[in-house]
Amino acid sequence: MPQDAENKITASGFYGDLKIGVLAIQGAVSEHIDAIENCGARAFPIRNAGLIPELDGLIIPGGESTTIGRLSRKYGYLNEIRSLAAAGKPVLGTCAGLILLAREVEEQEPILPLMSIKTRRNAFGRQRESFETDLSIPVLGEKPFCGVFIRAPQITSIGEGVEVLSILDEVVVAAREKNLLVTAFHPELTDDTRLHCYFLEMALEVKHKIFNVKIGQNVE
Ligand code: GLN
Repeated sequence: MPQDAENKITASGFYGDLKIGVLAIQGAVSEHIDAIENCGARAFPIRNAGLIPELDGLIIPGGESTTIGRLSRKYGYLNEIRSLAAAGKPVLGTCAGLILLAREVEEQEPILPLMSIKTRRNAFGRQRESFETDLSIPVLGEKPFCGVFIRAPQITSIGEGVEVLSILDEVVVAAREKNLLVTAFHPELTDDTRLHCYFLEMALEVKHKIFNVKIGQNVE
């Protein structure tokens, strides 16, 4: 069975109504868009201010975190991302995206900063600057997930309320805090869409909650 078909059967929701944005400053933007669309939701690149508030979720891709941070500030995205996250909508940060979300970045100022994690940039060392390895990510099922690491950061400490989703050689490489999801690796560079589908589940849950509040149902 092709990977996508397998994922669609295991996914519980109807993703068709979800609108996901991918911050399009740097990195594998079209690969993230393809992954989201392969899961059955709509995705588009964010190249202007004013679009982020309309989204059901946002992906911050990899690249160079200082550049993405600097341009995001300049284009007015940082405040929009903060508001989106404050509204409970999910944000996925991959690699440089993780660095943008972190509350603490070793030896430099944090950027957004939203998530109770500390990170160290380019932390896997020269020998392992770029590599691929099988990861165990229990929330995605038993099958290993291929982690593509490119000058990846490490999560060096986590705050209360942060759920560790994957560990590689005693280093946390994927984590979640409420509506914030981060990976040190690049899930968009494989054709395994399970992590993107997991992100859509987070988005769907929030959308249902907001809808229920609007129609006056008790959401507890
Ligand atoms: N090394 C980059 C940084 O520190 C992140 C690399 C990536 O996103 N692949 O910003």
